[in-house]
Amino acid sequence: MRWLWAAFLLLLALPALAQERSALARLDLAHSAIIAEGKDRGKPRPLDLQLAISHPVPYRVYFLDGPPRLIVDFREIDFSGTDPDAVPGRDAVRALRWGRFRTGWSRMVVELAGPYALRTAIQKPAQGGASGALVSLRIEPVPQKDFVTRGNALSALRDLPQPSNVAKLEARRTGDRPLRIAIDPGHGGHDPGAEVGAIREAAVMLGFARELSDVLTRAGFEVYPTRTDDSFIPLEQRMTIARGASADLLISLHADALPAGEAAGMSIYYWNQDADGRAARELALRHDRADLVSGLDLSGTDDEVAVVLMDLARLETQPRSETFAKFLVAALNQAGVALHRRPMQGAAFSVLKSPDIPSVLIELGFLTDPNDRANLFDPEWRRHTSQSIARAISDWAQDDVIRAGLSRQ
Ligand SMILES: [Zn+2]
Repeated sequence: MRWLWAAFLLLLALPALAQERSALARLDLAHSAIIAEGKDRGKPRPLDLQLAISHPVPYRVYFLDGPPRLIVDFREIDFSGTDPDAVPGRDAVRALRWGRFRTGWSRMVVELAGPYALRTAIQKPAQGGASGALVSLRIEPVPQKDFVTRGNALSALRDLPQPSNVAKLEARRTGDRPLRIAIDPGHGGHDPGAEVGAIREAAVMLGFARELSDVLTRAGFEVYPTRTDDSFIPLEQRMTIARGASADLLISLHADALPAGEAAGMSIYYWNQDADGRAARELALRHDRADLVSGLDLSGTDDEVAVVLMDLARLETQPRSETFAKFLVAALNQAGVALHRRPMQGAAFSVLKSPDIPSVLIELGFLTDPNDRANLFDPEWRRHTSQSIARAISDWAQDDVIRAGLSRQ
């Protein structure tokens, strides 16, 4: 509640800030550039186009011919007052134009010296703590026969729908349905997880998950467990189960083992894409496209496009996971639960990499630590901890709706 109140106060105190956040994305010329690779020998060269924008937006990329040009449509960037000829490195291309294209869309046109192909298209948060996002496109010269213009796979990016969580947030804002929480007890079946004496992590987590589910259900949430018995569920199937339930949040439960004395206390992990950049690509390759990012139709698109869309969806999801981790640490601190000396950490655990469902992994403690072990077998500690998790979920959910409202006004 305190967070909620703080957010309201911020709104009252800083109407200018609220106004700024409601504006269209703006281009930051100083941090944008066109970079040509290699020496200028009068031939087309590989090009990196970098566009710094004030916040992430959906976009689509394709080529047109006669003359060859790269088209990037954004939903939506306010280009007013920015001069394309002022972009650093502008001379590397024949011409550069941009502006409003039609309602809700802006277009950038890059006139090229010959046929090109798109090699990578990435949108990521701005570096060095700056706000905003960086759209980074790499194109490379190709023979005319390999020049693919609009109508190929990339045009699937046209009419990109909004991420599905918009609708979910709307439903929650109007109280149409309770929040759905996927609870994932780690390990199971032939994978016992950590083992200390006769204690098996898989069994301890299943027991904790049942009690946590009771507390959450009583608090008014809908709970969807990824397993309810001692069976083996592959990591990615756990995400698929959560997605199938249209979960708003996934909480994976673990209590691992480290040599005694090396680790104690609870810690929260959230996805950090920098920890493993290839994970998104691997996931895209392995999964049925249709269930990857609910609401985004990836069928018929190539791998590169799937990865772009996942990056885009995760750009919204990752900060939401991180915010939930913060609420969790706050609630646990308030309840006096002993935390690890680094209570929040980014990691590239598979189970956290849903592009569309905020996800955290709670390391409830270490089975190798006597205090942690005693806690896990103390019904009072488990009840206390479950209630703190429930409180963190409702605080986060309220904050999340406010943030969503702010960024979509
Ligand atoms: Zn584990």
